[in-house]
Amino acid sequence: MKIAILGGGISGVALARMLAADGHQVTVLERAERPGGLCKSRRYGEFTFDEAGGHILFSKDRTVLDWQLERCGGAAGTVRTERNTKIRWHDRWVPYPFENGIGHLTKAAIVDCLKGYLEAHVQRRLGTPCPANFHDWVVWQMGEGFARHFMVPYNEKIWKRDLRTLSSAWVAGRVPEAPIEDILKSAVGLDTEGYTHQSVFWFPKHGGFEALVQGTVAGGGFRLQTGVAVQRVERHGTGFRVDGEPFDLVVNTVPLPQIEAAFPELPEPIRHDIRALRPISLINVMLGVRLDAPLPNLSWIYLPFAEQGPANRITYFSNYSPHNAPSGHGSFLAEVTHRGELRPDGPWLRSLIQALGKAGILQPEHVVLAEWCNNEFAYIDQDLEFAARIARVRSWWDQSGYITFGRFGRYEYHNSDQCIARAMQVHQHIREIAASGAPARPVFR
Ligand SMILES: Cc1cc2nc3c(=O)[nH]c(=O)nc-3n(C[C@H](O)[C@H](O)[C@H](O)COP(=O)(O)OP(=O)(O)OC[C@H]3O[C@@H](n4cnc5c(N)ncnc54)[C@H](O)[C@@H]3O)c2cc1C
Repeated sequence: MKIAILGGGISGVALARMLAADGHQVTVLERAERPGGLCKSRRYGEFTFDEAGGHILFSKDRTVLDWQLERCGGAAGTVRTERNTKIRWHDRWVPYPFENGIGHLTKAAIVDCLKGYLEAHVQRRLGTPCPANFHDWVVWQMGEGFARHFMVPYNEKIWKRDLRTLSSAWVAGRVPEAPIEDILKSAVGLDTEGYTHQSVFWFPKHGGFEALVQGTVAGGGFRLQTGVAVQRVERHGTGFRVDGEPFDLVVNTVPLPQIEAAFPELPEPIRHDIRALRPISLINVMLGVRLDAPLPNLSWIYLPFAEQGPANRITYFSNYSPHNAPSGHGSFLAEVTHRGELRPDGPWLRSLIQALGKAGILQPEHVVLAEWCNNEFAYIDQDLEFAARIARVRSWWDQSGYITFGRFGRYEYHNSDQCIARAMQVHQHIREIAASGAPARPVFR
């Protein structure tokens, strides 16, 4: 079959590679000059940085993890790291997840957390239903103390909205309930591990996270057209036309609000729903520093409080691979979310660096490089209408004969491994279509 894939992020190129291996004639159309989307990296001299904040290779799915590692050159091409993440809690370093490290808080805060957790635990056992908004979910799941001392300030910093207007649906399955025994142990100073699926991760030795994309494109056997913003997709006989070129099948991975205008047949109410799917954007600040001593052995840290500056997460990026920074130097990524309005300038960058200095993360006078990169589509803004809206949108696509997937192609809060798992599902689905010639059943159920 002749197949067009719109968007050359990891979703698009992973699927293209799988389909090309079956002998299909595959074209990926990518708007940017380089494929990769959110998985792109960039170089400044001998520094390499990821463009959309710190990315790591990990997956609960061994098949997907192996696929990723193979694209990055396997054990020889990657660095394996045991995760060490902390929360900068005022002047203390608290192990992450917060529930597993509360013994490191002040005694008053430990009491707050413990009391709230026990109250919440009892309420849940009494059958208090799971709240629909995120603020109340936090209190329901973890209690008032955890909410006040970490979860609320941290999440307000990321989501930039009152947490009562944010849906709780996105946390389902992402934030497991900490066993009460773990909370009690950590309260008396016995650290527990918390969830372990990210306890080990990998990172490409060279080229940043984008090496995953490069390794997917190299020898992939498909046609990649960059610098092409798709303008018009329409039905044509039993197939489709993309900007005039005929295809048997069209798969979209482009963020839906960036592609809806290209589909003239979209019904107006669905178009309206898609336009309301707003993202949270991310400014990623890339910092190079001169080092007198090696960086602490940290993977990334969380900064929950406003006085720590605008960044919510700092990645110790040169710890991921020694090739991310030149010798005698280290590097950090500082992630700052916004709602489309933030444009950093010199004073803003300097104040962010000063705040990181005050928080004890770096020495401002050692900063030798400070650049930034904006990512318009970074997180999904899940307001209280999101679930109903996205259900209508997905339902239209799933009955249309087109396939759409990807982090913003389907609005699923997916990491790259889950995008690849989705690509595997789509691949299997297209195999079935090719084998039976039958019209497409919905690919995702
Ligand atoms: C802060 C942050 C941290 C993350 N950390 C991790 C991590 O540690 N590990 C991990 O695996 N994942 C992580 N992720 C998630 C990961 O980045 C995404 O899941 C993945 O990159 C999504 O890929 P995609 O191809 O679905 O979408 P995208 O990367 O958004 O790709 C969509 C592509 O469509 C292109 N496009 C747009 N308009 C058009 C048009 N009109 N025509 C053609 N092309 C167009 C874009 O240029 C882009 O290349 C993180 C994400 C963020 C934001």
